[in-house]
Amino acid sequence: MAPTGKTSLVWLRDDLRLDDNPALAEAAGLGLPLTVVYILEEESVGVRPLGGASRWWLHHFLATLSAALEARGSRLVLRREPSGDVIRKLATETNAGHIFWNRRYGLPERTIDAELKDWAGGNGIEASSFQANLLFEPWTIRTGAGGPYKVYSPFWRACLASGDIREPVDSPAALPAPAASGRGLPASDPLKSWQLLPSSPDWSGGLAATWEPGEEGALRRLEDFLDGPIEHYGAGRNIPGAEGSSRLSPHLRFSEVSPFRVWHGIRRRFPRNVPADVGTFRSELGWREFNWHLLYHNPDLATRNYRPAFDNFQWGRLSRQELAAWQQGRTGYPLVDAGMRQLWQTGWMHNRVRMAAASFLVKNLLMDWRIGEQWFWDTLVDADGANNPANWQWVAGSGADASPYYRIFNPVTQSRKFDPDGRYLRTFIPELEKLSGKEIHEPWTTEADGYPEPLVDLAESRERALEAYRQLDDGQD
Ligand code: FAD
Repeated sequence: MAPTGKTSLVWLRDDLRLDDNPALAEAAGLGLPLTVVYILEEESVGVRPLGGASRWWLHHFLATLSAALEARGSRLVLRREPSGDVIRKLATETNAGHIFWNRRYGLPERTIDAELKDWAGGNGIEASSFQANLLFEPWTIRTGAGGPYKVYSPFWRACLASGDIREPVDSPAALPAPAASGRGLPASDPLKSWQLLPSSPDWSGGLAATWEPGEEGALRRLEDFLDGPIEHYGAGRNIPGAEGSSRLSPHLRFSEVSPFRVWHGIRRRFPRNVPADVGTFRSELGWREFNWHLLYHNPDLATRNYRPAFDNFQWGRLSRQELAAWQQGRTGYPLVDAGMRQLWQTGWMHNRVRMAAASFLVKNLLMDWRIGEQWFWDTLVDADGANNPANWQWVAGSGADASPYYRIFNPVTQSRKFDPDGRYLRTFIPELEKLSGKEIHEPWTTEADGYPEPLVDLAESRERALEAYRQLDDGQD
């Protein structure tokens, strides 16, 4: 038996927060009994299943979100069947007159949402969607000719010229309790039954020591960053051994912190003019917006070259042994290895090191960028549906506004420049602990117990990559 009066249903997805959550705020404002659901979309057609590190994050995050909802008089319902089915069943069971969600931008997700909107319309249910996770929705930013942007700088300029960015909405102080039907409150899966946490082996110790998943951790990290590091971001963000960047990426990935909250947090700190370092930080947020713009207009960004000329590119033969050495941080090049070990231990890697590690795989080992993208997808706590493939394609040269093909990061030069005393290298490679700041960048020139010899010769592998790239017929796109 359904409840007699109408109720509301909020479907939380990549907007797992109470703060600046327009769908939740709007539903709370209606004052009707409210069911809040999160669906693990492993059975929804086309939706990319989460990687291992993201599943770890999601588990901890859902636990904190659930507690926060209970503290406000509500409750989180967890389900894992195909999402369209869940919403239709729950809406019927709870006699929902209104369904609320915040918009998302991948094609499979949009298709699910559009079908649901149709179904709701046909069943007398109002479905309302809101902008919550991007400052600029992809279809609103268009070139003079009306098409999507392919180059970052004019895209970001157009974004900044497109008008004011709305203020964030505060989190509701209280939420209406869910509606009970004849069958009681809507059933929820126990979070544990989803088995999101790794076991045998449990590799998550380093992640737990590094991160605080959840809204509180996200807002604290934002405040800490705005309190100091942002003022030196321009230089600080390049030093892997320092905390010079915000480390907000997993919080933004799961949208535990709203980009609107970040934007206006900056605005409040720097109300008059924006210092150069702060502008640089904002432009990184712009890359996130750009990558989602790209994904919206190119839904298969994670599987297809953005530039079709790369479809004929001759990647080298896949060597399982070389791939394993890269994944495990045993290439013999300290910057690459420190990065890959940082990734494995903490679920995150510094941006400069990501570029060097990715360039090493794609160019020095000549492996298809999709192989690296998939490894990052599985191991990053910030694995993001747009940022990950777009950045891999940027490094490979197959992407939009990509790094030129002849740009091959030299891991030795890079670590000498950005980690001169080897502080970062030593943190993740204990075998190199005793080497001097001079020796540590080229450990093969000295005795380094237990550390591997270089997997490939840098100059030779660079030449091989340049030769392969020169064959590319790239005049067409
Ligand atoms: P900050 O420097 O503090 O930047 C603030 C925010 O801006 C970041 O949290 C992020 O949301 C955004 N941002 C910064 N740099 C970029 C960028 N190059 N592209 C898009 N957004 C950016 N970032 C992800 O969020 N998820 C990924 O899956 C991801 N995969 C990557 C793969 C490769 C091969 C490379 C080279 C980069 C990848 N990045 C990815 C981009 C970047 O490395 C991270 O966003 C950044 O290191 C996160 O650290 P931070 O939060 O301290 O960044």
